Amino acid sequence: MTGASIRIRRGIVATLMAAVASFCGISSAGAYEMLPAASLKTNQFDYEYVEPTNPVHRPLYEALKKMQILEKFQEFFSPLRFPVRIKLKVKGCDGVVNAYFWEDAIQVCYEYLDWVMQQAPKSEKLGLTPRDALIGPTVDVFLHEAGHAVVEVLEIPFFGREEDVADYFASYVLLQFAKDDARRLILGASFLSGKEASDEQGKAPEMRILADTHGLPAQRFYSRLCMAYGFDKELFGDVVEMGYLPQSRARNCRYEYQTNETAFKALIMPYIDPDLMKSMKAKRWFQFESSAAPGAASMK
Ligand SMILES: [Zn+2]
Repeated sequence: MTGASIRIRRGIVATLMAAVASFCGISSAGAYEMLPAASLKTNQFDYEYVEPTNPVHRPLYEALKKMQILEKFQEFFSPLRFPVRIKLKVKGCDGVVNAYFWEDAIQVCYEYLDWVMQQAPKSEKLGLTPRDALIGPTVDVFLHEAGHAVVEVLEIPFFGREEDVADYFASYVLLQFAKDDARRLILGASFLSGKEASDEQGKAPEMRILADTHGLPAQRFYSRLCMAYGFDKELFGDVVEMGYLPQSRARNCRYEYQTNETAFKALIMPYIDPDLMKSMKAKRWFQFESSAAPGAASMK
């Protein structure tokens, strides 16, 4: 989901500024300009655990508060230099399984997190215990929505669908954690999207489904694995050996990872405080119970 109205509001400001610049004889045609440094600050994230309206979500609400999940994301996102404050929210969405960035808030529905838990494997898969398999998709959804926030709030230009941008942003960031954590996060997120993809492929495809702003579940599954394999072909070699990622795609993945890394470094890194990022990278964020060794079990 996107915060189109926010983008339009800021788009109007940018257009007005460009009009003033051209009136004053200043040409900015063709140049991408960063937002003025004076308007940018670190530590711009707040959080809110919204009381669930559906009593079914109360144990989840209590568990998330106990885990301090939003406090952790608040700290993790603190190096981002933003011109506005952003709220991290978990809340009930009247039965709709969703997560979105809207009105300067990253909002993840209890219904979405509930759905993730229902999809969790019943036994160990690819070396991940059922509990550990939940961590990847949970981190992934917050990062995906943060990807929307980054391009919309910072007015970062991009080609293609914003949903794809948010997916690649999330995959790239997942891969920046310590290598064994990165592997378990990517495999957890891939387990969920692989299951969603096979459920979806089993249905008769309707033409209009292909018009969605998101990639198809199977495409999103392959793109994440491709980013991972492109990042480190030893760490993720087994996803190709076991046939989860076809060779035909795998051979291009190094290039695919690198093009995204180049874009991240050129467009987003200037908005990240380097010292704060260093301390975030040094921190161990997760307590996985499974070993990170390449697994030989099935993903399905
Ligand atoms: Zn999205």
